[in-house]
Amino acid sequence: MDLKSGYPFWAVKNGLLKTFPQLTRDHLCEVVVIGGGITGALIADELNRNGHHVVVLERRDVGWGSSAASTALLQYEIDTHMTELAERYGEADAVRAYRACAEAIGELESLAAGLGDVDFERQQSLYYASSEEDVASLQEELALRQKHGFEAEWLEREAILAEYGFEAPGAILTQLAATIDPYRMAYQLFSRVVERGGEVYDRTQMETMTPDGQGVSLTLANGAKLCCQYVVMAAGYESQAWLPEKVAVNRSSYALITDPLPPEALGKLRHTMMWESSRPYLYMRTTCDGRLLVGGDDDDEDIPKRRDARVEEKAKGLAAKIETLWPKLDINPTFSWGGTFAETDDGLPFFGPHDALGPRVHFAMAYGGNGISYSMIGAKLLRALIEGREYPLAELFSFRRLAKMS
Ligand SMILES: Cc1cc2nc3c(=O)[nH]c(=O)nc-3n(C[C@H](O)[C@H](O)[C@H](O)COP(=O)(O)OP(=O)(O)OC[C@H]3O[C@@H](n4cnc5c(N)ncnc54)[C@H](O)[C@@H]3O)c2cc1C
Repeated sequence: MDLKSGYPFWAVKNGLLKTFPQLTRDHLCEVVVIGGGITGALIADELNRNGHHVVVLERRDVGWGSSAASTALLQYEIDTHMTELAERYGEADAVRAYRACAEAIGELESLAAGLGDVDFERQQSLYYASSEEDVASLQEELALRQKHGFEAEWLEREAILAEYGFEAPGAILTQLAATIDPYRMAYQLFSRVVERGGEVYDRTQMETMTPDGQGVSLTLANGAKLCCQYVVMAAGYESQAWLPEKVAVNRSSYALITDPLPPEALGKLRHTMMWESSRPYLYMRTTCDGRLLVGGDDDDEDIPKRRDARVEEKAKGLAAKIETLWPKLDINPTFSWGGTFAETDDGLPFFGPHDALGPRVHFAMAYGGNGISYSMIGAKLLRALIEGREYPLAELFSFRRLAKMS
């Protein structure tokens, strides 16, 4: 399955930053990470920095899956409101999930500072009501967040128009958000893993995986065999193929990017990412060189050919939505693309082992709108599980949650 269509900006901007070798010989190691996207990169780096011997296998080029298509808004705000999560799982777990996402932004910032040159920028996040009907639920959401100490404020219609230059009946403004270049970040992390003694292989596909009491045996498409103590399945949306049940629905999201726009045209958009209450939502951010990056119009298409055919029309639709909000902005997409992502029923990720494969195969399914913040959480969580330690969110983000969902 091809995970993206069109020309994702990050791959065009950066090109193929590095080629890693193929693995063609038999091998013995501690942890094998399957998947060379941002999730595999964050997990491999976390394990490697903490003394684990990691081997990463990527069947394409590194970063060339959904991570290349990501618009990479880093938010603590989950697609599912805290109020809804509180109804499903109780207030304590809802708050814990939001708090972990908030902490993940700081952790990604520290990692980015150590790597340098990955375009990490702190931003504000404006979550606006798409219609009058959504105002009450956003205000309830704000009240619950504030009750638990999350910094956020309410903006009325007049303030939104005065500050951000568009019409919306109300919005939650928060100061904790950021943007990044996810493709470059994945490359930098993998390069660091190699520098510190880890192994990263691309164009190397894992074909079979057989766990037993002692470890896991893997075979590669080229016939080589690996034995390890643990596997981390960070294979993005393809991870689902390794499970006996469907835990998420694959969808496509579409994006466009403009040429750099003058600061006066962007106004506060330059330092504020935005998204809205309707589903699927329109979302946007800028890049360090002042381009506007817009995404949305998600659909349930994951057949690459059909998604390819929709990219141009979707980009036109996204541009028209932006021009409706800011009639003076003339949006000409320089590049546009579509990419696969997956949605779980409750908007939360799955991290950890599944009964079908036993305790030595850990899944890293960072699904949902803030997949990258989830991946950062998953890196810490999975390291704890591999080291036999407890982790506060391990239960909520485990497959055991499925029983509560049905
Ligand atoms: C258009 C779009 C916009 C998005 N916007 C945001 C956003 O604003 N903020 C955010 O946080 N998230 C966003 N996301 C989601 C985010 O991109 C994902 O959470 C993230 O990229 C997933 O990374 P990953 O490493 O899990 O998956 P991938 O990047 O897909 O990496 C998985 C890798 O596994 C490899 N693989 C699969 N099977 C095998 C195998 N058998 N052997 C070897 N390798 C294998 C694949 O080749 C692939 O490269 C967006 C996604 C899309 C498509």
